[in-house]
Amino acid sequence: MRAVDIITKKRDGKALTKEEIDFFIKGFTTGEVPDYQASAWAMAVLLQGMTGEETTYLTMAMAESGETLDLSPAVKIAVDKHSTGGVGDKTTLVVEPLVAACGVPVGKMSGRGLGFTGGTLDKMESISGYDVNLTTEEFLSQLAEIGLVLCGQTADLAPADGKMYALRDVTGTVPSIPLIASSVMSKKIAGGAQAIVLDVKTGLGAFMHNMDDAVALAETMVDIGERAGRDVVALISDMNQPLGSAVGNALEVREAIETLHGGGPEDFRKHCLEVAGHMLVLGGAFTTLEEALEAAQASLKDETAFAKFLELVEAQEGDAGVVKNPDRLPKAPIIKTVPAPRSGYLQQIHAMEVGLTSVVLGAGRARKGDPVDHAVGIEILHKVGEKVEEGQPLFILHANNEESYAAAAKRLLAAHTIVDNAVEPLPLFYRTITAS
Ligand code: URA
Repeated sequence: MRAVDIITKKRDGKALTKEEIDFFIKGFTTGEVPDYQASAWAMAVLLQGMTGEETTYLTMAMAESGETLDLSPAVKIAVDKHSTGGVGDKTTLVVEPLVAACGVPVGKMSGRGLGFTGGTLDKMESISGYDVNLTTEEFLSQLAEIGLVLCGQTADLAPADGKMYALRDVTGTVPSIPLIASSVMSKKIAGGAQAIVLDVKTGLGAFMHNMDDAVALAETMVDIGERAGRDVVALISDMNQPLGSAVGNALEVREAIETLHGGGPEDFRKHCLEVAGHMLVLGGAFTTLEEALEAAQASLKDETAFAKFLELVEAQEGDAGVVKNPDRLPKAPIIKTVPAPRSGYLQQIHAMEVGLTSVVLGAGRARKGDPVDHAVGIEILHKVGEKVEEGQPLFILHANNEESYAAAAKRLLAAHTIVDNAVEPLPLFYRTITAS
């Protein structure tokens, strides 16, 4: 077999066999297939697409390109979640303890923020001492002991995807549904997931700006799950405006803690309950979503979910005192409220602009490996559809210095559109996609 024949076959719109995909991905992982051939191949896939069968072969080839985890000694059914990324998306911080408190253990490996979206590891590191670096042994023993882990990638999972993603990033080949779907699913499968809830975001602050693309991506990932013998449910959720109120690491941790106490913004709380409900059904704890939602709600009310979060932080050497008293989270030197410039209805709070403003404040990073400022960020005080009065607080900025405060205030005011006529609120979820 020759890599060039596989590239030309795909270029000409023909479906690749399992053997051809395995050969190509193995060669790419070892370096026998050079980057220039892999780039040409990725472009051919982007232009010609892939069948469901090919996409599944690609997913499994990438999942098997490195270590794969077996979570069966620690859990009955390994359930995981994945969000395609958004602004103010601190869902994992609430959903994981919620699900664990309801009897389904979850071990999750998360990532760092990049671009305008935040990352779970950066958020958790706002809690002093919290250790995101666990070995595979530590991961498995904590999962068996307390039923909850939240850390960075422990092993060399799906290295072919890591290499391929870096190449796609610089060759214009990111926005391909088979390539994105196989990239996401290969990492989940390599991490040992048997059941997965996918939170596929659509809107101004999402990877998939329009609904058709979000649905196509969700359907492709559900199809991969079905073909690979994994239970997958995909929720299509709104990402036109930020989720909840807080955007920025410590601010998001504070909001997650408030939510775990049964408070927090209503949209965020409902979002978390829905994701948790689906995970609890897939994890076999409940047969209907209604029962699962009831149990999840009860675990917020009786504080068992909060207690689980506390247990997690203690297990990973974080300062439990910060979780008990979030006033001890890092604080920015400048905290100022910005008023609404006019009266009217909020028509838009541009999620990507909000995310980019938080990066300008220092909450995100321009390049991989840059440090983040845990204290800075934004509190959005209203949702699309709400009426605001001129002079009423519109948002709060947490900044490092006057200069970045002024730049952020200007940018964020421009991200809010206020109109005279009433505006419908945005839905939280649009659709649920399951296997046929
Ligand atoms: N996230 C991933 O993990 N892979 C992609 O290709 C895009 C987003």
